[in-house]
Amino acid sequence: MRNVPRVVVIGAGFGGLSAARHLGRAPVEVVVVDRTNHHLFQPLLYQVATGILSSGEIAPSIRSIFRRQRSTSITLGKVTAVDVAGHQVEVCGADGESKRLGYDYLIVAAGAHDSYFGHHEWARHLFPMKTLAQAVALREQILTAFERAAETADREKQRRWTTFVIVGGGPTGVELAGQLATVAVQIQREFRLIDSEQARVVLVEGGGELLASFAEPLRHHARKKLAAMGVEIRLGTMAVNVDDDGIDIHTAAKGNDGRGPERIAAGTVIWAAGVEASPLGRLLGDLTGAEVDHKGRVRVGPDCSLPGHPEVFCIGDLAALNDLPGLCEPAMQEGRYVAKLIRRRLAGQAPLGPFRYRDLGTMAAISPGDAIAQAFGLRLSGLPAKVAWALVHIAFLVGWGNRLGVLSRWAHDIVTGNRSERVLLEGVGEGGVVVRRSEG
Ligand SMILES: Cc1cc2nc3c(=O)[nH]c(=O)nc-3n(C[C@H](O)[C@H](O)[C@H](O)COP(=O)(O)OP(=O)(O)OC[C@H]3O[C@@H](n4cnc5c(N)ncnc54)[C@H](O)[C@@H]3O)c2cc1C
Repeated sequence: MRNVPRVVVIGAGFGGLSAARHLGRAPVEVVVVDRTNHHLFQPLLYQVATGILSSGEIAPSIRSIFRRQRSTSITLGKVTAVDVAGHQVEVCGADGESKRLGYDYLIVAAGAHDSYFGHHEWARHLFPMKTLAQAVALREQILTAFERAAETADREKQRRWTTFVIVGGGPTGVELAGQLATVAVQIQREFRLIDSEQARVVLVEGGGELLASFAEPLRHHARKKLAAMGVEIRLGTMAVNVDDDGIDIHTAAKGNDGRGPERIAAGTVIWAAGVEASPLGRLLGDLTGAEVDHKGRVRVGPDCSLPGHPEVFCIGDLAALNDLPGLCEPAMQEGRYVAKLIRRRLAGQAPLGPFRYRDLGTMAAISPGDAIAQAFGLRLSGLPAKVAWALVHIAFLVGWGNRLGVLSRWAHDIVTGNRSERVLLEGVGEGGVVVRRSEG
């Protein structure tokens, strides 16, 4: 028998962290369960992948975040099953043992993972960037690619190793493309045998536009800027096959009908395209009869709860509500809202009205001195947008130590034109430097 109600929060990402923090002073016991020991600031993952930031700077430990919140405990483990009738979750812990954890309220904020549009076989040839392990694996691959190009006199191999293809023209794809073009220029002076400035960065987007959620003048600015940096933009183009030597793409443009796919020999193909909600979404759908959409998200009620289960909530990337996009801000606002709802229920106060999203705008970085941003009817581009982008990202990072660390890395990058995170964790073994594509 528990003295106070227990709230179990699955996932310490943007949604789960926000919910757990806002329950800090409530008369409840909070248990945060995450399969990793850190809260990951995904918007800056691409800076880890391109050697600007270290892993720890964007991934503070969950225990350190809650060290002063005495009502909250942390369980490192993966939730594998939910018993909604028995009010329990099954957790596979760090020791590999399964245990059951009872709850009075359950907040499921398990986020999303990569989806390859049904082509699971592509996964072993691609570099996704959804987890910290994947970002570090990608960084090692980028560094290794330049090293391998420098080692060979064969122009064709050099060309292949310095060709980077990014699939997906949303903010992540655009940010990576801009950084890769910048990396190639920055490290050129260190590689004397190859002309790394000639590195080819190809950005492949299936739709007709990059950054589809932005207004046309901002999209135009991004396109122009990327093109000026040498990024090849391929719109209306689908990946049709990926293997270890490159990618086949097909452009459905006028005049291309009947033409076969185009082959791009590339040492690195990066996946910044689809995502799909955590499998816990489908599991909860099956258990509760809640509808699950084509992205695996659970359709929740107006208060983020599941039909027939007012004690179970889904938030963030796992939840389908009012067509909200998979972004940090909806996840955080939903987390805050659900915490408030639980507090009011426990206090016997009148129920909260339905969740309402407050759109605070969106932004994307393009190059070290350029970004685009739109908020409250205002549009910014160029350096002013990059300054706004930097301020917002610093403000949303967790912990003063990380904020200062990131600021000093950015200052170092601007002043020296170099980046600090250039370690290849493994040296050269029997088969050369091996980069493991991470399962995340
Ligand atoms: C590369 C990248 C860049 C992005 N850039 C931006 C951006 O610039 N702006 C923006 O607004 N959004 C951005 N997003 C989207 C944003 O990060 C997500 O919308 C947001 O993180 C969603 O929050 P969440 O709490 O739903 O899930 P997440 O933040 O993904 O957290 C999910 C948590 O659940 C844990 N978990 C998952 N399954 C289990 C399980 N079975 N058991 C235990 N724990 C589990 C995970 O370890 C993770 O900690 C980006 C995403 C990516 C991948």
